[in-house]
Amino acid sequence: MGRYRCGKIVSTIGPASSSHEKLEELFLKGVDVFRLNFSHGVHDWHAQVYEAIRAIGKKYNRNPTVLADLQGPKLRIGTFENDKIILDEGDTFRFDLDKTPGNTRRVNLPHPEILEALHIGTTLLLDDGKLRFEVTDCRKDYVDTKVLVGGPLSNRKGVNIPQVRLNIPVLTEKDLKDLQFALDLGIDWIACSFVQTVEDIENAKRIVNGRAGVITKLEKPLAVQAMEPIIEASDAVMIARGDLGVEMEQEELPTIQRRIINTCHRMGRPVIVATQMLESMVLSPNPTRAEISDIATAVYSGADATMLSAESASGQYPFEAVSIMSKTIAHVEADPYCQSKLEEDTQLPQRTTIDAISAAAKEAAEYSCATAIVMFSDNFESIVRCARLRPQIPVVLVTSSIKVANKSGLCYGVYAVHENIFENKEFDTSVMSKAAKDIAKERKFAKVGDNIVVLNDLKGHSVEICQL
Ligand code: PEP
Repeated sequence: MGRYRCGKIVSTIGPASSSHEKLEELFLKGVDVFRLNFSHGVHDWHAQVYEAIRAIGKKYNRNPTVLADLQGPKLRIGTFENDKIILDEGDTFRFDLDKTPGNTRRVNLPHPEILEALHIGTTLLLDDGKLRFEVTDCRKDYVDTKVLVGGPLSNRKGVNIPQVRLNIPVLTEKDLKDLQFALDLGIDWIACSFVQTVEDIENAKRIVNGRAGVITKLEKPLAVQAMEPIIEASDAVMIARGDLGVEMEQEELPTIQRRIINTCHRMGRPVIVATQMLESMVLSPNPTRAEISDIATAVYSGADATMLSAESASGQYPFEAVSIMSKTIAHVEADPYCQSKLEEDTQLPQRTTIDAISAAAKEAAEYSCATAIVMFSDNFESIVRCARLRPQIPVVLVTSSIKVANKSGLCYGVYAVHENIFENKEFDTSVMSKAAKDIAKERKFAKVGDNIVVLNDLKGHSVEICQL
């Protein structure tokens, strides 16, 4: 059979994986979605990677998905006279608007709007939360703090302020340039970092204007608290456990992860579980048992995709990481407990035509022991609605829209085929059934004697069981 898993793999591209050969190897090992991280790399580099991915798709007659992850308003301190200082618990330390290099008493925090939002008692986290500071005095151009947890602090380290709503736009000047560039390239998904409110994501969607899907990275506690409207306004969601783990107590992460997955699933938004899934494989060819279990947990709880970050971008074993992730997902999905768990969690269809025929196709497939649902559609929303019902067999999507084909790689169980079977032809259901059988056979989703279910979302709506 052509399909061996429904859960998708997102792989971040970086120096360890950006050559044409390495991208091809990643693709062959099972990457469905390639993530270009705009926190790193210049435009020429991203363009080269993008073109290579599209060329690989063409070579294999497949539709790999490309995601551009925008840096967002990541806060950073300035630099130090000697590049680095060491702070001890109990020290007093100032963050100010003075751009000159800092020392053991002060450093530049080049964000006046952040200083304005701070108040006495606010916690500042530096360098991924390794250092903690408590604000003791606030003035217009500086805040004084007490060091709660000290350590080394070097140039341009990141700053997190967990419980404060910051008056900063979700798309910075850099993001707007990167966004325009990525849209001009033709990327399929844009991920927005540090979304705080539903207005943030609505604003980003207005700018993107349908040219790509918009993913909210949930990584701020305030956004997690208001997740329902934010998820509803998004086209998909990434659980960005890196920054989330800095801004929240770590023990809260597993329950939050589950809550986000359930909410996404209920609303029909594809959801990616990200960060540190196979972290030890940055340096080791073998993962830890706990990492394998982390992937399994994401699959059992119904995530659409799991993501590799440093493992595939800069690690020593990018291909091994993809293989292990792929094998783990496939193995868990084959577990009858996983299937019954997904079935139990599967959301009820809603009162829409596409839900009605998707549910009918799923049931027809189950009772006819079909090996695939072949769905004809040019409408991305329909595909997401069908995937939301978590059919236990692949959904082979046949679409005349290259954009829809490329975008659908993020969706659970969907395998896209870009083909316009009615080019210069009248619509005809018998042509559709024949094409479905040919495609299912050609792509090894069915063999002679097998049943497939044909789901027509092109003209009217219908469901048909066909035998090869
Ligand atoms: C994260 O914080 O988990 C994440 C995916 O974002 P980034 O890699 O941009 O830090």
